[in-house]
Amino acid sequence: MRFYLDLSFVPGPQINEILDVINLIPHRLIGSQEINSVAIPQYVEFEFSGSINDFEDDLRLSLEKNSILDYVVTRDSLKENTLTLLKTGDLGQLGIYFCDFCGAFFNSEEGKYIHERAHYFY
Ligand SMILES: [Zn+2]
Repeated sequence: MRFYLDLSFVPGPQINEILDVINLIPHRLIGSQEINSVAIPQYVEFEFSGSINDFEDDLRLSLEKNSILDYVVTRDSLKENTLTLLKTGDLGQLGIYFCDFCGAFFNSEEGKYIHERAHYFY
């Protein structure tokens, strides 16, 4: 399956460290995009043999093994098959709210609330 990884919340100096971690996971890189005219990839497109859940787990494990503990892996609620890496310390500052059930994130408390209600119907 084809997935996307949004690294735009990762500060420049740490991107290479994060990319090293991603390279430990077997996958095939399809392409990357540079955002904000910085010469580092911030939006990576790749192919992975498992599901997005498998990749999410692998990425978490890989980050832990490399003692990168200040990042959380989360699903982008707006884009399909997209994972985002967020720095835990920045969450409040960015105004990001997490679903208590599935970890999807939202830009507003209202968005989170509306989304969370959907979980009650399953
Ligand atoms: Zn949810």
